[in-house]
Amino acid sequence: MKLIEVKGLEKIYQSGETKTVALGGVSFSVDQGEFIAIMGASGSGKSTLLQLLGFLDRPTGGTYKFAGKSVEEYSEPELAKIRNEKIGFVFQAFNLLARFSVYENVKLPLFYSNIPERDWDAKIRSAVDAVGISHRMAHEPGELSGGEKQRAAIARSLVLEPDMILADEPTGNLDSKNSEMIIKLLDELNRKTGRTVILITHEESLAKYARRLIGMKDGQIESDKKI
Ligand code: ADP
Repeated sequence: MKLIEVKGLEKIYQSGETKTVALGGVSFSVDQGEFIAIMGASGSGKSTLLQLLGFLDRPTGGTYKFAGKSVEEYSEPELAKIRNEKIGFVFQAFNLLARFSVYENVKLPLFYSNIPERDWDAKIRSAVDAVGISHRMAHEPGELSGGEKQRAAIARSLVLEPDMILADEPTGNLDSKNSEMIIKLLDELNRKTGRTVILITHEESLAKYARRLIGMKDGQIESDKKI
């Protein structure tokens, strides 16, 4: 099944006289269950594309169908709901709340869901277990290593069992050993659960874990191949 279909997707930033074409009309589709790495020089439009795919921003042109429905037809509250329930985000900066334990950080998306509170504990424990840091459940981010912080952030992205994980340079703050562990974890989550994973990375050694590689240049898709 096609999870994503974009045609001529475009994002132009206009500030005063200056027009920046961040994304110059890209077209591609993604099947449910794919694991894709996006590579390309800084400024080539990778983050812009990921933000549009995750409904964090609206395109200035083109069309985007998610799970068969045109995104333009969704209202803001509907988009916020799919963003929370269907998409897990992972960022370079982890974005964990400092004074909260791993358990409490992973709990956050549940507050904005329809899941009954009696089911929360099991969901949190299952997500934390899936990333292998159950023994760190009661710790705050300041007490965790970089790799463990990113695992906690991935657990938070998983707690609502999303269809897709969007990861924007998730290893940007990690050493090479932890970077590889995080990518292996994303690979395992993709293989075991069939969740679609789209990953931006600068590292070719990490991109090779994906099964499709999209290369971007100047706001365009320059290459797109199975690996
Ligand atoms: P990448 O992730 O590949 O580094 P980005 O998607 O962040 O690239 O940026 C693509 C282009 O769009 C760059 O030229 C960047 O400066 C520009 N850009 C990104 N966000 C904004 C913004 N909010 N306002 C103006 N220009 C932006």
